[in-house]
Amino acid sequence: MSDASAASFDFDLIVIGAGYGGFDAAKHAADHGLRTAIVESRDMGGTCVNRGCVPSKALLAASGRVRELADAEHLRGFGIHAAPVRFERQKIADHANQLVATIRTNLTKTLERAGATILRGKGRLEGSQRVAVREASGIERVYSARDVIIATGSDPFVPPGIETDGRTVFTSDEAISLQWLPRWIAIIGSGYIGLEFADVYTALGCEVTMIEALDRVMPTFDPDIAKIAARNLIDGRDIDARSGVLAKSVTPGSPVRIELVEMASREPVEILEVDAVLVATGRVPVSKDLNLASVGVTTNRGFIPVDEAMRVLVDGNPVPHLWAVGDVTGKMMLAHTAAAQGGVAVDNILGHQRLIDYRSIPAATFTHPEISSVGLSEADAKELAAADGFELGLVRSYFKANSKALAELESDGLMKLLFNRSSGEVLGAHIYGLHAADLIQEIANAVARRQSVRELAHEVHTHPTLSEVVEVAYKQAAATLV
Ligand SMILES: Cc1cc2nc3c(=O)[nH]c(=O)nc-3n(C[C@H](O)[C@H](O)[C@H](O)COP(=O)(O)OP(=O)(O)OC[C@H]3O[C@@H](n4cnc5c(N)ncnc54)[C@H](O)[C@@H]3O)c2cc1C
Repeated sequence: MSDASAASFDFDLIVIGAGYGGFDAAKHAADHGLRTAIVESRDMGGTCVNRGCVPSKALLAASGRVRELADAEHLRGFGIHAAPVRFERQKIADHANQLVATIRTNLTKTLERAGATILRGKGRLEGSQRVAVREASGIERVYSARDVIIATGSDPFVPPGIETDGRTVFTSDEAISLQWLPRWIAIIGSGYIGLEFADVYTALGCEVTMIEALDRVMPTFDPDIAKIAARNLIDGRDIDARSGVLAKSVTPGSPVRIELVEMASREPVEILEVDAVLVATGRVPVSKDLNLASVGVTTNRGFIPVDEAMRVLVDGNPVPHLWAVGDVTGKMMLAHTAAAQGGVAVDNILGHQRLIDYRSIPAATFTHPEISSVGLSEADAKELAAADGFELGLVRSYFKANSKALAELESDGLMKLLFNRSSGEVLGAHIYGLHAADLIQEIANAVARRQSVRELAHEVHTHPTLSEVVEVAYKQAAATLV
């Protein structure tokens, strides 16, 4: 692209949406000298900073401490007798709010310092290489850009039949402000968001009923990990978990009324009356007002089809100069995925060809203890082994054999490692246990490099640390290679 033709555009790049995906893309582009604009209609930082990762982790940090200090039996094991723990709900909520404000300010300043132009308003495509931005005042301006990245993220999904009022029936958008603590709350959905909020609510003394439509709780997790995790995170707490049941209707009020039916037969099961309901049934892409038709793009239930270079596709072919990243693409809807995709899109715009590697992207649930995973599920690994004609290896490493976990009196934990028994290549790992979210990174790095347990087994780990759980798994795996 010559300078003359580049200068004929208002910007080299316009990013629509300033969530984690948009932020990383815009910063990376501006850092590399592209004249970059980023359009945001709500809060800078998007879901992760304002309504997701950041406030939820702040609530989990505070409520996790309450849980620890209130666990008299655990403390007695160390010879500690603590006074009854007291907490102030509003101050816990304030901690989350302050963190959100700090991170949002830092992120905005970082973009400004990088030289990106922040356009406040709602963006939509106006054909190829053109973006219309409607400001809150109603004024609309159209900008041209050589490249456009869509990073408009996702919103909570509320199934039909469920009515929200934001106070007694709400989604994570409202739950993160911890406005009140219901005595009895039903959480619909046992994915990572439902589990994290169950962790917060039970630590703060609420009784929880967890409603899962599929036939087992934690259906998206590795079945062995889910079994051991559910024993602690659900059965060991003030949680009544129901699987195979559907919340057919939820009516806000005091009490909130939930009509439960059996998932398979739709036969009535029970009417529950609770103080509040958190709807944690997944997320839907934000794409319907983007005027995608102006560039001929058809979505897949709202998700924008992309290739591994993050180019938007129409009938399998890339649309020139149009890219999409983050939750709106529906691929591993996590903040670090969005950021990684943003980096990949911009590298390709800069002419450095690079593809995203989803297999090496880890995922974590920040319950106490945590759950994490990377790479293939056992079912997918079995399929790959059958297709590629290799034998799948599987080893288990237990926290109860780890000195650090024993010293912490938190030795309930398991790591499952999946690998190719011929080449030794690490294919995936699934962990439940203390600091599982940190432990998974080492294995994610090995997956990214397609490393073999043959070499990994020789890497020395600090003693005594939880990382030795990983070391033991690598050594066990190496011993089984054929
Ligand atoms: C409760 C909760 C906890 C979570 N915890 C974690 C976690 O611990 N770790 C993790 O990795 N992920 C977590 N996530 C997921 C994470 O928040 C998302 O994956 C991430 O925010 C996706 O980033 P994104 O940039 O694709 O979209 P978003 O963060 O949704 O940002 C999109 C932005 O685009 C803006 N926008 C939309 N349409 C337009 C338009 N037309 N014009 C202008 N602006 C527009 C929106 O206002 C928004 O600011 C959590 C999510 C939730 C809900």
